[in-house]
Amino acid sequence: MVLKPVERDKEIAETDFSETDIWVQIRKLPPKMRTGRMAEKIGAMFGSLRVFDAEGSEPWSTYMRLRVSFNVTKPLRRGVLLANGKENIWYKVVYEKLPNFCYNCGILGHLRKNCKEEIVLEEEMQYGNWLRATSPVKKTRPKNRV
Ligand SMILES: [Zn+2]
Repeated sequence: MVLKPVERDKEIAETDFSETDIWVQIRKLPPKMRTGRMAEKIGAMFGSLRVFDAEGSEPWSTYMRLRVSFNVTKPLRRGVLLANGKENIWYKVVYEKLPNFCYNCGILGHLRKNCKEEIVLEEEMQYGNWLRATSPVKKTRPKNRV
């Protein structure tokens, strides 16, 4: 089990690098699956694991929280397929403080109206506001949420 120090509220670096770090939440991941090893595995699906927020992934929470690095020239990942017992289950991913991204192709840094890909119908779009974590992490987050 790998425990790393938690970096909170570190803004996404405004740089031209193709890799960036972002906090993600793996929604409804069963508490028993929220292990350091699983964090490494999920991190590798994005790119690499930066931080596993073990405290933010406690059983009372409805998700596992990790900071991952990923390649911003690729579409955002919308979920992760993980083996839970004998089944493979799709767990949705949401992102904290997600910058502007394209709802058409899922890539950061431009909007749908500026997309160079073929524009899909709005009702067929695979990306949208639902990829944003609904409750942004506040700077004065209570320490002992139960
Ligand atoms: Zn686009």
